[in-house]
Amino acid sequence: MNNGKICVPVAVSRVEDIVNKARKAAEFADVIELRLDALENADPAEIRKQIRKIRGIFAGDILVTFRPKTQGGARELDTKERRSLLTALETDADLIDIEYDLDLTLENTKTVHSFHDFEGVPDDLVDIYDRLAAKARENDIIKIAVRPADIVDGLGVWKLLSRGGRQVIPIAMGEAGKWTRILGPAFGAPLTFGSLEAGDETAPGQITAKDLSEIYRVKELTPQTAIYGVIGRPVSKSLSPYMHNAAFQAAGIDAVFMHLEVSDLPRFIEEFVPRSGLKFGGFSVTMPHKQAIIPYLSGMEESARAIGAVNTLKIEDGKLFGFNTDAEGFIAPLKQTYGDLKGVRVALLGAGGAARACVYALKKERADVTVFVRDPEKGRAFAEEFDVEPGRFPVETLTGFEIAVNATPIGMGAGEEDLAPLYSEQFGDVSLVYDLITKPAETALLREAKKRGLKTIGGAEMLIAQGIRQFEIWTGKDAPAALMREKVLERLFN
Ligand code: NAP
Repeated sequence: MNNGKICVPVAVSRVEDIVNKARKAAEFADVIELRLDALENADPAEIRKQIRKIRGIFAGDILVTFRPKTQGGARELDTKERRSLLTALETDADLIDIEYDLDLTLENTKTVHSFHDFEGVPDDLVDIYDRLAAKARENDIIKIAVRPADIVDGLGVWKLLSRGGRQVIPIAMGEAGKWTRILGPAFGAPLTFGSLEAGDETAPGQITAKDLSEIYRVKELTPQTAIYGVIGRPVSKSLSPYMHNAAFQAAGIDAVFMHLEVSDLPRFIEEFVPRSGLKFGGFSVTMPHKQAIIPYLSGMEESARAIGAVNTLKIEDGKLFGFNTDAEGFIAPLKQTYGDLKGVRVALLGAGGAARACVYALKKERADVTVFVRDPEKGRAFAEEFDVEPGRFPVETLTGFEIAVNATPIGMGAGEEDLAPLYSEQFGDVSLVYDLITKPAETALLREAKKRGLKTIGGAEMLIAQGIRQFEIWTGKDAPAALMREKVLERLFN
């Protein structure tokens, strides 16, 4: 346990809606932030009435914020109206946010002295901190929120936590900074901000308060908690945090798993991992880093070497060891559904990273693989490397094949819901269709296959199976497989 609290912003345009939203926020909030700049008409008397009503349904603290657009607020506000509203509500609130550009001291209320930069990370972060610290009284809080382009650039604001003397909330906004929101409380930040619902964020990268509480268990984390995450770009849609966090909790392991958006892999490995002070246990690696990570490894499992890609890292004594769990993750559900694969003719569509793991696993099972690729050059090289038959994409018909595997992203993108790499009339003799795409759970390809009464396997099965093996690599324990499956499917279908 740590002493951090979850703060949920409530931003509504009509004052009469404040209480309803606050009621919802109260489910996961220790502190409710009233974002009064969102109100069309911020009348102190009306607001005071609402605050009194909130006190009747919520025992936690109320933070009042009236933020101008320049600091990320909802509308333009002049200095006079800012001073006047905050002063009027001084004794109604438990905490008042005062942005760094407002010269105002409120004697009777604890203050959050805040600075926001929604464009980047200023060079003079330490000066900004020192200026805010000079204004802050002993119990006041300093909040500094910046917007790094890359995860490594979030380290500057994070390091403010160790300056000591004052309570600090360091926030790196955006996808690349989500880790600061999850780990802040463990390292001494008094608050972390979580949105009421997905789509209700008041700043980029905000995680829902429900997920902060139930998935990441932010109030239970400490500096000793082992940290895992999926590194890649983009990673925000990855379902891995849902299965791994549930698994760690069920197994009683003090660890947390999060999305880590990494653009610059060398900087992440050489600067972020050693300098962050975070106790990393390992990573799940996704596009575009599965091959680029290889030069940084101290050791590599034989299957990963043969596949030529790494999707799992374990860190031991500061050294990185690489594994590939995609091959096992791919083949386990296929064998379970189809049975013995020896001599079975498989049509594999695509020759990217995932296809490499598929072909490795299929060859191990002695299946007879043909790889269908749009670029004949790439197709030939791939077929030669793995000693399989080359074929051309698009496919005419899969006559003579028993299994079709889609390892292309066709059907995954926004607006591609009706797009499939194969349609019903091309299935030939295929009796089982396996689509590696996780989201959407039912791709157009799988719908086409079901129309023909064929067996199907969706990408979630591979994701779960490879995650089970990851968990075992990281922890040395048996994975709670049924729970991991349940958590992935729950997210996928809700
Ligand atoms: P990748 O390395 O980018 O490879 C994609 C392959 O698909 C390449 O061969 C590419 O050909 C081909 N391709 C792309 N667009 C195409 C199109 N419009 N027509 C024909 N071929 C096309 O990606 P990956 O990592 O292998 O991933 C492939 C799919 O598997 C993705 O949907 C990914 O989400 C999924 N996946 C799922 C799991 C899981 O656990 N379920 C794990 C890994 C991957 P070019 O080289 O010519 O571009």
